[in-house]
Amino acid sequence: DDRIVTMNEQSGDDWQYSLRPRHLREYIGQDKAKDNLDIFIKAALNRQEALDHVLLYGPPGLGKTTLAGIIANEMGVNFRITSGPAINHSGDLAALLTNLNERDVLFIDEIHRLSRNVEEVLYSAMEDFALDIVIGKGPSARSIRLDIAPFTLIGATTRAGALAAPLRDRFGVISRLEYYKPEDLVLIIKRAAEILDIGIEDKGALEIARRSRGTPRIANRLLKRVRDFAQVTGDGVITDQIADEALMRLEVDKMGLDHTDRRMLDSMIKKFGGGPVGIDTLAAAISEENDTIEDVYEPYLLQLGFINRTPRGRTVTRAGYEHMGIPYPEME
Ligand code: ATP
Repeated sequence: DDRIVTMNEQSGDDWQYSLRPRHLREYIGQDKAKDNLDIFIKAALNRQEALDHVLLYGPPGLGKTTLAGIIANEMGVNFRITSGPAINHSGDLAALLTNLNERDVLFIDEIHRLSRNVEEVLYSAMEDFALDIVIGKGPSARSIRLDIAPFTLIGATTRAGALAAPLRDRFGVISRLEYYKPEDLVLIIKRAAEILDIGIEDKGALEIARRSRGTPRIANRLLKRVRDFAQVTGDGVITDQIADEALMRLEVDKMGLDHTDRRMLDSMIKKFGGGPVGIDTLAAAISEENDTIEDVYEPYLLQLGFINRTPRGRTVTRAGYEHMGIPYPEME
């Protein structure tokens, strides 16, 4: 699978770890989230307390994991990473929590996918820094309370709405990450190019930035692919022309839409008359997972104004038709 747009980091992305900024001041863009966190971190450091629990939400690849790592680094504590689907039993979570040192950061990616009983263990852990553990079975079973070190939970999710209210309410800080502006992506691309020793012109960086759907993970991936073209077909330096040629070959269009985005728009227009079409029907028509459409494809198409969400389903807008080069059906 050599798709440009994916839900997860793929193997071979290890090199990205070396690109991860370690300090808040190196984290580009996301000013709202960053400015707030900066204050909360300083206040917590001053009081010598654990930072309040933080929920980060937004589409994949926007740097939630990166930001969580930075928070731990700025707090000067350990950073432990896990994910909702990886914690199968409440005992797994208890083991993680009892191993934390004071003020450590526990990062749970895809926190909306925790099972109900694991989630319940988390409630008292977040609120009281305590675990209620049942020992024994049947009539002799009893519950004991175990204290754990005050810690910071950082949860990441693509959709804050997918979180149960009692869990969401236990986060003191809730930050939404936004798609990056092209000028911020330019800085991210140039920073990565410098670290990876890739020659790139400003215009080349801008061309990649414009076509990275506001997402640093995609920007870095495209940078790496375009570099290959620059080395084979040019003199190794990425110009706007080389970037354009390479991205065209990779089927990433001028707006950053890939093969699947276009297949989705095409299907909505040709099979469903521009909509409204329900998510299940659409997913079946283009053989994609509902979640992938909802988390990855749809948010960007909505942001571009190419589709709309209505109570009866998704519709393609005039701009969406125009982008696909298909005349918008005018009302009689
Ligand atoms: P998420 O957890 O939201 O899915 P992530 O943190 O896993 O995202 P990565 O895929 O690691 O995101 O992000 C890609 C890379 O982009 C990072 O390794 C880092 O090099 C870079 N990056 C992301 N956000 C920023 C930023 N705000 N400033 C600088 N570099 C960034």
